Amino acid sequence: MTQRKHGTLSLELTANLPPTNVDDLLLSVKYYVDEECAHIRVRDQKVCGECAQTPCLDFCPAGVFTQDRGGTILVGYQACLECGSCRIGCPYRNIDWNLPRGGYGVAYKFG
Ligand code: SF4
Ligand code: SF4
Repeated sequence: MTQRKHGTLSLELTANLPPTNVDDLLLSVKYYVDEECAHIRVRDQKVCGECAQTPCLDFCPAGVFTQDRGGTILVGYQACLECGSCRIGCPYRNIDWNLPRGGYGVAYKFG
């Protein structure tokens, strides 16, 4: 059996796949937005003020977290893909994350 480096093997396996555009994939996602109840919130903006790296601005694949000019972290929960990363990504455990209420949230298309 031929030994191959992992990176080389991965490149060979993916070489014949069609190009993937994440933005196009996101267009196939449906959102049922709960306008009355945000399922994500920042617990304490003062803690964010002490958070030098602000990783939430980077780890969310949907760009839910943004920061205004005054430094306040804004939460666009309507775009949440429910990946769960913000339960572990905030170094200060300063994000309160719950699943949306029944009947709301993201709906993925399969097939
Ligand atoms: S990672 Fe957590 S503490 Fe830091 S800015 Fe984001 S929500 Fe605030
Ligand atoms: S659960 Fe995932 S998609 Fe939703 S806000 Fe957190 S990191 Fe973003």
